[in-house]
Amino acid sequence: MTTQELPITLGLPLDPPPPAHGCGVCGALARQRAEYAAAGNPSRATDCSVEIRNHPHDGSAS
Ligand SMILES: [Zn+2]
Repeated sequence: MTTQELPITLGLPLDPPPPAHGCGVCGALARQRAEYAAAGNPSRATDCSVEIRNHPHDGSAS
């Protein structure tokens, strides 16, 4: 029996990460992502998603 629970992430994230609450950088990236998506530029929108996902938050941001 095989249980395949590995997420399929081959550069095509199915669930765009939500921007962190209170983070101006993530908020700006989310806006850019929406603009790129609306402009028919999904690869740029994905770039924004990657940046949001990788944006560090240690909880001590001021
Ligand atoms: Zn952030």
